[in-house]
Amino acid sequence: MPLGGLGEVGKNMISIEYGRNIIIVDAGMMFPESDMLGVDYIIPDWDYLRDRKDRLRAVLITHGHLDHIGALPHLLQEFDAPVYATRLTRGLIEIKLRRERMLERVNLHTFAAGDVLKIGPFTIEPYHVCHSIPDSVGLAITTPAGLIVHSGDFKFDPTPVDGWPTDEAKLAEFGNRGVLALLSDSTNADQPGSTPSEAVLDAALGQIMQDAPGRLIIATFSSLISRVQQVVNVAQKQGRKIAIAGRSMVENTEMARELGYLHIPSGMLVSLDKVDSLPPRQVVIMATGSQGEPMAVLNRLATDSHRSLSIQQGDTVLLSSHTIPGNEETTNGLINRLFQAGADVIYGAQAQAHVSGHASREELKRLIKVLRPRFFVPVHGELRHLVAHAKLAHELGMAKRDIAVVENGYPLNFDEQGMQIGKRLPGEYIFVDGSLVGEVGPTVIRQRDELAQGGFVTAVARYDRQAGKTVGQPRIITSGFVYTPDAQDLLSQAGKVVSTAASGKRGSAPAEVEAKVERALSSLFYRETKRKPVVTVALTEA
Ligand SMILES: [Zn+2]
Ligand SMILES: [Zn+2]
Repeated sequence: MPLGGLGEVGKNMISIEYGRNIIIVDAGMMFPESDMLGVDYIIPDWDYLRDRKDRLRAVLITHGHLDHIGALPHLLQEFDAPVYATRLTRGLIEIKLRRERMLERVNLHTFAAGDVLKIGPFTIEPYHVCHSIPDSVGLAITTPAGLIVHSGDFKFDPTPVDGWPTDEAKLAEFGNRGVLALLSDSTNADQPGSTPSEAVLDAALGQIMQDAPGRLIIATFSSLISRVQQVVNVAQKQGRKIAIAGRSMVENTEMARELGYLHIPSGMLVSLDKVDSLPPRQVVIMATGSQGEPMAVLNRLATDSHRSLSIQQGDTVLLSSHTIPGNEETTNGLINRLFQAGADVIYGAQAQAHVSGHASREELKRLIKVLRPRFFVPVHGELRHLVAHAKLAHELGMAKRDIAVVENGYPLNFDEQGMQIGKRLPGEYIFVDGSLVGEVGPTVIRQRDELAQGGFVTAVARYDRQAGKTVGQPRIITSGFVYTPDAQDLLSQAGKVVSTAASGKRGSAPAEVEAKVERALSSLFYRETKRKPVVTVALTEA
């Protein structure tokens, strides 16, 4: 049962079920689009699991990116199941759980590529894959119905930063055993050829660092541990020191160093407040916030609201990550503000300092060819990516009926008859807004949108039910609609409309009268301004 990541980029989560046993692969979050006002992030709708709580045996995590671990704290607040992850992934999960004060009560286990785990009727074999974070795995899951391979996020990088390529020997072995179903990463299914190796970044990074006349500030995701390693390697050659800015980046790099996944020579790392005492040309600052996240370091630099750091003439800022789709406006705004603050900004294609962590078409073909699955399910991607991936499998000779292009909520059943796609289960976006989880739904978002479009007007008046009219002057309160000092005429007209619309039948209930007054005010405002503010009226009985 796909619960997230099919038909969208983000919040990946799949449950695999046999008899009364369920294992979950990944529990990720997704960033909101710019029209989801006020939403911090989105988590999968796992309502399906709620009346199957007692069947949950384990949560298996493929790697430490937020679209795979971001919803874990929420999931583990509701469900009690052991979590399995590789060492580095576990380290990243621990940082998240500690922040939520949940670490002590969660049952965490470490697994490694090459392990064989028995969980209920399942045998789980994590195998190593290359991705933009070390210690990533795909999962081979032997079920009584057959072998299922879940690719995780992967690519076939021949020269990865950590020197550990995707385990093709293992994949060939799975292929020889016979694969019932392959669930494979579709993120780049519309990209031709092969994804460039992370190694090609070294030259681009080296050039950018060479050309930067002063400090170089590199913004990326705090979980891109491999990128941090590459920056360290290049900086070392060029005699620059490294400072890390941003809590999540500091925590993640410290943890990765302790576990041996990140190697920074002693003396190269300097604290942020020591940066000013070094010549600018000897400084690289790694920072969070390449997507324009409001609280992250880069946005604080752009708005000059960081505690200890600010942009100075001669700074070069490098955005070393792809902009998440839907987030372009925010990122462009950030870039403009950084230029305004005096920095040179290198971004997009000119940066050439980002390569995707996901396999392109030739690599996707390679995976299908080596595994020769009976059934194929494209995962991780918008519908267009899933469709492109399905076509690819078809080109390789798979029958269309053996390929399932499905979005979240469509159960897939495998038995002697083959594969059946079941009836879709309803699911929705679960918005997380501050400490509200799921309480903010589409209705609230629509209301926020209306408020954002037109602002609001509230009229408050005392109402005499016996006489059927208002008493005294109504109060008109507005925000985000008109600039009050310049709109006195309109607002006094509005006051009159309230009194007029409210007077009528004696003994009418205030609620009825309120609705009538709201309509009268709305039409006044539309007539006078062609705007539709949100109008509310409160009559208190005198
Ligand atoms: Zn990933
Ligand atoms: Zn992912």
